Amino acid sequence: MDITNPAIQKYSEDHTSPESELLKKINRDTHANIMMPRMLSGHMQGRILSMISCMIRPSVILEIGTYTGYSALCMAEGLKPEGKLITLDINEELESRVRNYFKNSPFDAQIDYRIGNALDIIPTLNTDFDLVFIDADKENYARYYDLVINRVPLGGYILADNVLWSGKVLDEKSDKDTRAIKEFNKKVQDDTRVENVLLPVRDGILVMRKVRS
Ligand code: SAH
Ligand code: CA
Repeated sequence: MDITNPAIQKYSEDHTSPESELLKKINRDTHANIMMPRMLSGHMQGRILSMISCMIRPSVILEIGTYTGYSALCMAEGLKPEGKLITLDINEELESRVRNYFKNSPFDAQIDYRIGNALDIIPTLNTDFDLVFIDADKENYARYYDLVINRVPLGGYILADNVLWSGKVLDEKSDKDTRAIKEFNKKVQDDTRVENVLLPVRDGILVMRKVRS
């Protein structure tokens, strides 16, 4: 199910700044050569991530789920000049392609791209995160949240993607991933440490700001 009316979606894209040449290429290559290209953030969501990152001006961004690097490069646009973005993915098959994209971007020196299970890597990172983007396996969203929440300072942000799961969050009967997303959304709604707003954009983006420790 498309959450946004397709004509409204098209009109909105037509009034959103275009992608850079590199992002366009990543978008094109991913659709031509990689499994499950729908996972890529794409034009509209990419510009939203860039805009949010530019509003925050983070020193440290953590991304959980790199895929082909599209969203990482969008969020890197908002980094402070000396800031860095750590991005994690378990899929080593995409590594050389993604490293190459990063190399061809203005942000290569600021990106720390690591291959492995995010559940294992996050506890080894010895830094706080001004902005976290949760976008890996849906089953572990709540675990990722628990791993990062104490590492986000007051006033820091966490974003979680695909929280409407193509509208399946409304279904009575749900599969494992849908159940995990619904539990995650409820957990955040019930957590007084964060203020949150669910943006019904693309597949749903949950925006959280830490307000209490
Ligand atoms: N953020 C990207 C899309 C990410 S798709 C974009 O918006 O363009 C989800 C990614 O999560 C996949 O590449 C998958 O390999 C990765 N992933 C799944 N489980 C993971 C885990 N346990 N640790 C790290 N990455 C994982
Ligand atoms: Ca996603």
